[in-house]
Amino acid sequence: MSSLPVTRPAADELKEVLLSEEQVRARVAELAADISRDYTGRDLVLVTVLRGGIFFLADLSRALTIPAALDFMAITSYTADSPSGVARLLKDLDEEITGRHVLLVEDIIDTGLTAAYLLRVLHTRNPASVAICTLLDKTARRIVPTLPIRYRGFEIPDAFVVGYGLDFRQQYRHLPYIAVLKEEPETSLSLPG
Ligand code: 5GP
Repeated sequence: MSSLPVTRPAADELKEVLLSEEQVRARVAELAADISRDYTGRDLVLVTVLRGGIFFLADLSRALTIPAALDFMAITSYTADSPSGVARLLKDLDEEITGRHVLLVEDIIDTGLTAAYLLRVLHTRNPASVAICTLLDKTARRIVPTLPIRYRGFEIPDAFVVGYGLDFRQQYRHLPYIAVLKEEPETSLSLPG
């Protein structure tokens, strides 16, 4: 277990650092190198989901050696009434993606329901291709078995993590590392973004 270097607020609510700032930075650079190689000469659009994904997207896009457009979506959270997936889009893309190569940049994939919903939305616009780049992959709770995860930063155990964009009640997003919360959130349903 590494020490907890940071910070505001309530670092005593964190159990341990799962992935250090250095580990995250190094892996993001590797992912960016892979993406730059694979998408050279292609019209690439990086799409992420507000709000958690913006930290990863910002670092990943700056480490690319190829041009890429950035765009954002926002979606409603799950409710008890819609356990099978996400209800609706709150913010759609601004970019036209027909005929372009789309990479969905996710902070974390857990059950996979959010990603599956987003893929369905993206496919209706007839992009040239759609693939997923996720920083964290929590495979233990996966419900959707067949997601096109082309780039994966880290496979992590079934724990609720915060930092590097991931929040608990809108806190901890600013942390430069990924940490495990001391107490698991009460609900077993996760909230997108
Ligand atoms: P899904 O279960 O649909 O794959 O993930 C839904 C959303 O739940 C993710 O996009 C993320 O916002 C949130 N989520 C899932 N696991 C975690 C976690 O360990 N920590 C945090 N902060 N959010 C999570």
